[in-house]
Amino acid sequence: MRTIETIFDLSVEGRRGVKLPALDVPVSEGLGQALCRETAAALPQMSELDVVRHYTNLSAKNFSIDKNFYPLGSCTMKYNPKIAEKIAGMEGFAALHPHLITNGFTEEMQGALESIERLQSVLCEITGMQAFTTTPQAGAHGEMLGIMMIDAYHRSKGHKRKYVIVPDSSHGTNPATAAMVGYQVITIKSDENGMMDFEAFKAKMNDEVAAVMLTVPNTLGIYNKRIKEICDLAHSHDAMMYYDGANLNAIMGRVRPGDIGFDVIHLNVHKTFATPHGGGGPGSGPVGVSRTLEPFLPDIGVAKHGEQYALTTGGAQSVGKISPFFGNYGISLRALAYITILGANGIRNSAAKAVLNANYIRVRLREHFDIPYDTLCMHECVLSAKTLAKEGVTAMDIAKYLLDFGFHAPTVYFPLIVKEAIMIEPTETESKQTIDRFCDRMIAAVKLAHEDASQFKTYPRTLGVCRPDDTLAIKQLNVRQPL
Ligand SMILES: *Cc1c(COP(=O)(O)O)cnc(C)c1O
Repeated sequence: MRTIETIFDLSVEGRRGVKLPALDVPVSEGLGQALCRETAAALPQMSELDVVRHYTNLSAKNFSIDKNFYPLGSCTMKYNPKIAEKIAGMEGFAALHPHLITNGFTEEMQGALESIERLQSVLCEITGMQAFTTTPQAGAHGEMLGIMMIDAYHRSKGHKRKYVIVPDSSHGTNPATAAMVGYQVITIKSDENGMMDFEAFKAKMNDEVAAVMLTVPNTLGIYNKRIKEICDLAHSHDAMMYYDGANLNAIMGRVRPGDIGFDVIHLNVHKTFATPHGGGGPGSGPVGVSRTLEPFLPDIGVAKHGEQYALTTGGAQSVGKISPFFGNYGISLRALAYITILGANGIRNSAAKAVLNANYIRVRLREHFDIPYDTLCMHECVLSAKTLAKEGVTAMDIAKYLLDFGFHAPTVYFPLIVKEAIMIEPTETESKQTIDRFCDRMIAAVKLAHEDASQFKTYPRTLGVCRPDDTLAIKQLNVRQPL
């Protein structure tokens, strides 16, 4: 068992970091005697220097995109340019009180409103949708809004719809969302090319289907070549097409979901347009709609009237408010900064590099790992460690091994339809040298598996936390003494 030293372990009786001014009010006044403690709190006693060192060292124990290659498939940890941080941190933006906007100070808020309107417009341009709302606070939140709007649409038409069709290669939040809004989920299996089986889909498509939710590219990293046919068939039943664009990295600047015929899209700007997320910060899941669904957009948005920017509220058919104010405004600013800096060509090139990098990894590793769908992939590739099973080595073992060599683990055991899945997303910013170092390490892992598999169970050897029991850790979280 390894333990992490806590600040309490470092405490030395009587040591001080700061000297507080003497109390200048009577102790019991204000609070009342009953609320005053009788014994001193057991706070750690340390010098300022010891505190600074303790937290600096702790912060360096984390994996982060600023320190490590972070090839997390599906969840996309891309580099977050420092200029985007700087812009989001500017006082004129960061210190704004959101109530200024909602309480009618639109004159003073023109800059902030303009930034939101610009993001709405540029997202429309990138995706080919008619209108955007930046208010959802994450991808799953955007999905829920999207399906709520679809639901409102069907109700407004007097339709009775029961089902949402979801392929088995979609992100897990898709069926969860459909169920949350009250639909039954029909799952369609993938065909031998890793795409939704078209015949099976056709057999299930009827007038009781409210929507078809596609994760594009799907979680195998594959773009469905029959996407237009799927849209047309769904529309012939007046079902809505939902595009899970959490990860637009492969197609931005290349294909526009609105042009294909999608009715709703959500984007995770925290996966596509910079922004640290997960443990690193909040996200944002703006939602775009076609003209048909525009009347159902939530409160609140921004519109430009002449030279002035003004708040818009939802119309009579709006699904209402889904988040306070404008969602995570700081994340919207980072996304706008990123898109503006890259420009149209940069966005297009970024997609090309994301795809090139993923395919480079796929081709370098294809002789060493099983690749269940070994075709041109989009921004991520999915390998399987199942060939190492006879050595007793699992995808989790590979993930743990990589940590000791300074690589964040790729996503493992997802997508669920691939045994011993290892899902790798390098993103567009990684250099060939970094990617080669990673591939070399993956190949070394396979070699070690064949030569001395027992070693694997001992990784990671250099980190504070070794192999926690994930299930137990969730149920009995103890951040002080990890096992
Ligand atoms: C990450 C992701 C989501 C969920 O987004 P959150 O911001 O985590 O709620 C949905 N779909 C896909 C394809 C994703 O990769």
